[in-house]
Amino acid sequence: MSESAYGWIERALSTIHRAHWTRSTQTLYGLPGAVVNLDGQEVLNFASNDYLNLASDHRLIEAAIAATREFGTGSTGSRLLSGHRALHRQLEIAIADLKQTEEALVFSSGYLANLGTIAALVGPRDLVLSDQYNHSSLKQGVILSRAHGLDYAHGNLADLRYKLEQQRSAHRRCLILTDSVFSMDGDLCPLPELLALSHEFNCMVLIDEAHGTGVLGPTGAGCVEHFGCTGQPLIQMGTLSKALGSLGGYVAGSRLLIDFLRNRSPTWIYTTGLSPADTAAALAAVTIVRGEPDRRTRLWHNVQRLKELLSQDFPTPPPWQQLPSDSPILCLQVTDAATVLAMGQHLKQSGLFVSAIRPPTAPTSRIRLTVMSSHQEGHLQQLSQGLRSWLSGKKP
Ligand SMILES: *Cc1c(COP(=O)(O)O)cnc(C)c1O
Repeated sequence: MSESAYGWIERALSTIHRAHWTRSTQTLYGLPGAVVNLDGQEVLNFASNDYLNLASDHRLIEAAIAATREFGTGSTGSRLLSGHRALHRQLEIAIADLKQTEEALVFSSGYLANLGTIAALVGPRDLVLSDQYNHSSLKQGVILSRAHGLDYAHGNLADLRYKLEQQRSAHRRCLILTDSVFSMDGDLCPLPELLALSHEFNCMVLIDEAHGTGVLGPTGAGCVEHFGCTGQPLIQMGTLSKALGSLGGYVAGSRLLIDFLRNRSPTWIYTTGLSPADTAAALAAVTIVRGEPDRRTRLWHNVQRLKELLSQDFPTPPPWQQLPSDSPILCLQVTDAATVLAMGQHLKQSGLFVSAIRPPTAPTSRIRLTVMSSHQEGHLQQLSQGLRSWLSGKKP
């Protein structure tokens, strides 16, 4: 008898396994924070995107509980049909206020915001130029849009210019896509230069502030604020699930852009509205992001301190390459997937929770460390110590 129609799945999985690319989940218990319980073991957490520690903040928790009591657990419909609540509108106004844009629109996740925005803005007659290290949701958005998509080399303005010169005039609209903080590297996009090119070649720009919002800029408005580009014509998207400690995504921009998306974005129109709990928690978070800049001060202090420890405490050259970073994401690139897994395992046994990133999430294997505002000096030193003990090959 011939193999079953599903037989290929087992073979595909064993190929993934042989390449050390197998993925699995680890269970966290209790509230998120600098110290967490991972699979029953207390560990220091350097694997979270909860940069400002808002996901465990009592004000977000109380806001989510109160909204659930008042409005129920589900929003029960799409925003256009029956799922729209005053809370959604309040959150959109708060986000537009933070971003200093005319309008904002809340989606059910950041991933959906990217898919639906790109699919609405461009089509088969259009060109999309995308940084090669952009997040999966931007890449999938290009595929969904059926636009002519081209990657430019990471942060490489000369390559982007060359591709614009070659391709721009053959297409109707053009959209440039970039992460603001590259999520698996930690460096920033060259936003002012991207905007200058976009003016020269008459392109739209969409910047993904998933890791910028709450973290960068004096008021936490993100990379756009950091570079002094507030108020420029731009499409800004982001997530409610990282520094904002909730779940959901948003797009911020002009009134016309948002009105257009309400009419044309399939991932906003045809999906259920954000739950009352997530909406209320995100609304509380936006207020805290603006009102408590001390959290950002502590976060950036910790980022500086960890960079110091990583540069002081290790032989030169270390057996990893520390990737350039201007964010709380610090990556140590190593030679291969097996090494990064062993390193992650060693660190976990030493009570340190880090992310071991392998292809295809990033082009090369790396340990990804994320810093939070609540990390203490001792936590950072323990991390450095754990890395040293990996180096000396000692068991913890
Ligand atoms: C996490 C992330 C997203 C997706 O956001 P979710 O709200 O988690 O779906 C999009 N873009 C980037 C760069 C991200 O890091």
